[in-house]
Amino acid sequence: MFSQYHTVFFPLITGLLYYLGAYVGVHFAALDSGIVVLWPPNAVLLAALLSRPPRLWWPLFLAVMAAEVLADVPVFTVTQAVLFGVINIAECMIAAGLIRYWLARDIDWNEPKDLGVFLVTAFFVAAPLAAIGGASVYSFLLTSDTPFLTFWRLWWIGDATGLVVLTPLLHMLFSAGLQPRASHLRLPAQIELGAAWLFGLAACFLVFSWNLHSDAYLVLTPLVVLAAPLWVAIRFGPFAASFLVTAVALYVAFATAAGAGPFIREHQDQSALLAQEFVVLFVVLVLYVAAFVHQNRRKSRKLHEAFSELYKLNQALEERVRQRTRELFDANQRLQSLALTDELTGIPNRRHMKNLGEDEVKRSERSQRPFAVILLDIDHFKQVNDRYGHAVGDQSLQAFAQAIGSSIRSVDCFGRWGGEEFMIIVPDSDQVDLTRLSEKLLDCIRAVAVSFEDQRITLTASVGISEWHGTSFDRLVSEADNALYRAKAKGRNRAELSLARLHAADREA
Ligand code: GH3
Ligand code: MG
Ligand code: MG
Repeated sequence: MFSQYHTVFFPLITGLLYYLGAYVGVHFAALDSGIVVLWPPNAVLLAALLSRPPRLWWPLFLAVMAAEVLADVPVFTVTQAVLFGVINIAECMIAAGLIRYWLARDIDWNEPKDLGVFLVTAFFVAAPLAAIGGASVYSFLLTSDTPFLTFWRLWWIGDATGLVVLTPLLHMLFSAGLQPRASHLRLPAQIELGAAWLFGLAACFLVFSWNLHSDAYLVLTPLVVLAAPLWVAIRFGPFAASFLVTAVALYVAFATAAGAGPFIREHQDQSALLAQEFVVLFVVLVLYVAAFVHQNRRKSRKLHEAFSELYKLNQALEERVRQRTRELFDANQRLQSLALTDELTGIPNRRHMKNLGEDEVKRSERSQRPFAVILLDIDHFKQVNDRYGHAVGDQSLQAFAQAIGSSIRSVDCFGRWGGEEFMIIVPDSDQVDLTRLSEKLLDCIRAVAVSFEDQRITLTASVGISEWHGTSFDRLVSEADNALYRAKAKGRNRAELSLARLHAADREA
């Protein structure tokens, strides 16, 4: 994307700021001897390089070279100015290239790691390397009695200090993503920020300028100027902090260059060095604190968000589990009743009756109160099927089941034992006259009628009854079956008591 903004407008701004930086460096940040406490223009170029991809760097180089020549020609030859331009561009390219290579992404001042990478590459690699070139120009092309190594050190630390103090703020301003946030602050926060600025500048004035205006030299540690930027770093993050910390650093540099403040020593390069060490360390400290606090805040916010997201997911999952469990329970209930219900008649099937019968045996064992098993087998049912068809047979079985079901007590259990054979379990049979009951049942069966075409089909059944006398359910069923067999043998359509029951009745009598 080679839009006009990238190829013309932004390089123009960079060149202008670079020129301005050089002007400020020469006129406000240099001591009488020419030693520069802090060299700003390289920070302009480095910030610009860091905010643009390498393919958009060349317009910046052109703009910066023009600015360098314009700034230098009053004092240096064009050749010397071009050499200085090349050296400064090389310095910023090395720093920006290394940072890009090391991080493999854009530098982020919210990340403590990025600050470390910036410091190592800009301060300890790019600036000292470029300083070799700068010192060479001074030593070999310009006549001077200052030793090469002194030039080298002055160039290095002056450049590096400028980079450290100004690059973060300028880069944040250049980067499209980071919009100034002060305007989003609410009024109390704005007032707090304003107060921090007032306090910070007042501290600068007291520490660095008071002795210019007063005979009484105020002995205050320069560390006092740290308070306000740290406050802003903790409360407002890297962006707001970098504004104030840069302002304070420039104040310290300019004041020292003007010969004011606690760093002034007999030799000017000592004064410069003290101010530089102080400024670099305190800028780094403030930006680190800002990055750490901000990063922690961001992390805990993310963690909190992740937790609430997890909580919501968990709630949803629990609800789904509850619902599934309910559905499973219902399905299980349905399945169970299906497994225990006879499909044709809707009454308990053989398995169900067997369970109920065995339960009844246990109950009787506990209470010693008998219960009765009544087996009913429809007479000549085969003929119904043969004569009218299986469907009518089914219909007859349903009518039979309905008739018996509505004639028994609610405590009695009625089910289909198999085929056209049914069973009734009668609890507490000592309270019941079984003979009368069986007569009632037979009457009820005789009354069952199924119509087929214009015919009326009626049924009869044979009944066998047994009563619990300490035996198992299977045994009781087989006794009832024997009684049923006798009823069949005696001509059907009648009820027979089991022999065991009869003998017991005889004994009682
Ligand atoms: P009896 O008991 O009087 O000796 O004669 P029966 O004809 O009833 O005897 P059997 O037990 O030999 O025959 C029972 C018949 O019941 C045989 C079978 O076709 C019929 N049956 C059994 N289950 C069903 C059913 O679900 N539907 C129909 N339609 N018929 C059934
Ligand atoms: Mg039968
Ligand atoms: Mg039968």
